Amino acid sequence: MAGAVDGRPARRSYRSWGRYPSAAPADVFPVVWRSDAPPFECLRGSVLPYACGRSYGDSCLNDGGLLLDVRRLDRLIAFDAAAGLLRCEAGVTLAEILALIVPRGWFLPVVPGTRWVSVGGAIANDIHGKNHHRAGTFGAHVTRLELLRSTGERIVCGPDDALFQATVGGLGLTGLVTWAEIRLKRIDGPGIAMERIRFPGLDAFFELATEDHAFEYTVAWVDCLARGPRLGRGIYMRGDHAPLDGPAPSPLAGARFTVPVDAPGGLLNRVTLALFNEAYYRSQLAGRRRSIVPYAPFFFPLDGVGDWTRLYGPQGFVQYQCVVPGVPADGPIRTIFERIARSGEPASLGVLKRFGAARSPGMLSFPREGTTLAVDFAVRGTRPFALLDDLDAIVREAGGAVYPAKDARMSPESFRAFFPQLDRFRPHQDPRFSSSFWRRVHAS
Ligand SMILES: Cc1cc2nc3c(=O)[nH]c(=O)nc-3n(C[C@H](O)[C@H](O)[C@H](O)COP(=O)(O)OP(=O)(O)OC[C@H]3O[C@@H](n4cnc5c(N)ncnc54)[C@H](O)[C@@H]3O)c2cc1C
Repeated sequence: MAGAVDGRPARRSYRSWGRYPSAAPADVFPVVWRSDAPPFECLRGSVLPYACGRSYGDSCLNDGGLLLDVRRLDRLIAFDAAAGLLRCEAGVTLAEILALIVPRGWFLPVVPGTRWVSVGGAIANDIHGKNHHRAGTFGAHVTRLELLRSTGERIVCGPDDALFQATVGGLGLTGLVTWAEIRLKRIDGPGIAMERIRFPGLDAFFELATEDHAFEYTVAWVDCLARGPRLGRGIYMRGDHAPLDGPAPSPLAGARFTVPVDAPGGLLNRVTLALFNEAYYRSQLAGRRRSIVPYAPFFFPLDGVGDWTRLYGPQGFVQYQCVVPGVPADGPIRTIFERIARSGEPASLGVLKRFGAARSPGMLSFPREGTTLAVDFAVRGTRPFALLDDLDAIVREAGGAVYPAKDARMSPESFRAFFPQLDRFRPHQDPRFSSSFWRRVHAS
């Protein structure tokens, strides 16, 4: 597979997706062959695997330490097209897998909002998708993986092993995943029969969410700037796999449009975002709209615009993603929306979804039953960090969690409260592995 990918973003700058915080590894060691262990005894300092850098904050960064660049571990090892079982190296991207399996009637069991994510990254953050209420997390579909420890030991483990449960959602800290085996799912075709429903506020969102069980995929875009009776208004999208008239675009195709330069710092302000939100909300004239679309724009709409993170300006941005348990139409989610709307912070790209009851397999997995909200904020000096600390307090109080893959600022106290299995995880961490995130949430 090496070198075969046209649309794959060629980016080896070792930043995180939000470009905040800035960090510089002391060195980078490329891992090319799964049979060759990096010479851990000769490498100085802490090490951390780095794949596609699609994590927003600092969980994929190792400031002053060493990064193991695993992107060239990109070989498919075995594909049983009858049973739907795929074994591949950990640096293979979901886009590369989709290019192979969709024409053969298979799909990945879980995909996130971008296809430029590696299998190793998907495991390390135990990622979730629009079908969490049906399928749970990515890690729930990994049948085996190989872990290379800094001692040189190689351990093949599966769902019943504690080391597997520490590695899934383990933030790259238990060792290097060299390969993994994934159970795929059958699909009717490369299309998605999609329904888009405009909803006027939070109560209507929770009403629609009661119908989630009837659809494989559900997610909602929300206007985080709307207030009063329009608080939490948005567009609900739900759908199922379906045949498509004509061929689906290749998942390896590049973006249709690229943002050429960093936008001026103030471009995404409350006025421009409110105008955009109003136009987007009104763009759907009918209350409901049904269509059959190729799967890529349904799952990965942001992949259509290259380097869109430049719109946030040179200081970058943070995404805040939390989950709170229960069905609290008038509970913490409403309070969070009110706090964001009142704060004056220009919140953009709000995404709201109900997680299902499936238990995540990882000790540090983020998803749990409840409502998850993700919102982007441009970084301007110390903004929006005071607001996000307030939101953490609401989430803590509600017994929820904030997603480490998106985080650049949560406190050690919050981390401990959000991840009660931390003490079970610790014995499985590889003593040579660390990250900027890990040091931050362990600072005293
Ligand atoms: C536009 C966009 C949409 C997104 N949507 C979602 C979503 O819907 N759901 C969701 O859950 N996430 C989502 N994400 C986040 C993304 O899925 C995760 O951050 C994912 O882990 C990124 O994978 P990566 O290959 O880029 O890994 P990196 O970001 O490079 O690394 C992530 C972690 O994986 C570890 N790692 C990488 N490779 C290995 C390996 N071989 N062995 C051990 N550890 C390894 C790293 O050390 C690090 O801790 C989204 C991100 C973007 C940019």
